[in-house]
Amino acid sequence: MVEVARYFTDFTQGESCGKCTFCRVGTRHMRDILKSITVGEGSMEELADLEEIGEAVIKGSLCSLGKTAPNPVLTTLRFFRDEYVAHIEEKRCPAKMCRSLIAFYIDLEACARGCDACVACCPVDAIFTTSNRKKAIDQEKCVKCGECVYACPPEYDAVRRVSPPEMIPDQGIEPLTEKEESEA
Ligand code: SF4
Ligand code: SF4
Ligand code: SF4
Repeated sequence: MVEVARYFTDFTQGESCGKCTFCRVGTRHMRDILKSITVGEGSMEELADLEEIGEAVIKGSLCSLGKTAPNPVLTTLRFFRDEYVAHIEEKRCPAKMCRSLIAFYIDLEACARGCDACVACCPVDAIFTTSNRKKAIDQEKCVKCGECVYACPPEYDAVRRVSPPEMIPDQGIEPLTEKEESEA
């Protein structure tokens, strides 16, 4: 929900004609706060700021764009406040949407040996073969696009998405050596 609010605020901020100061500056300020929350850098004080600025933008805007621009933020703050708090206090995205706060890993128990379906879909070659010839994700390379989740056949369903990134379990992964690879 936080990412949804950020997306809509970013959109309306871009659409503002700039005539009213509250709409022009207020939506920009809200967008910046939401951005910092989605990357785990928000504060509880900023939640109060979001509500205050949102109400001011509604009151101080001339047209319906400005008068409705804060609605996604104010509504999600009212009904999904716990999600905002999780982003701020636990650096965790409950919806597992915010890229800075999530990570992907492959469950070695579920991954099928010899199935390479995820490898070709990765845009940054982050998926490598492990010493037991399963697949794993190089966290340094992964850009968290989520493509491998969809590429993995449903009968294996081996790609996991977690938040915060520290939730990735230690599976004792060893990459396949070049010698082992050439002998395969
Ligand atoms: S409220 Fe409407 S008129 Fe005022 S700056 Fe926003 S878009 Fe322009
Ligand atoms: S999430 Fe995207 S970048 Fe990361 S391993 Fe999967 S396909 Fe590659
Ligand atoms: S697509 Fe799924 S089952 Fe196949 S290698 Fe990748 S993670 Fe393993």
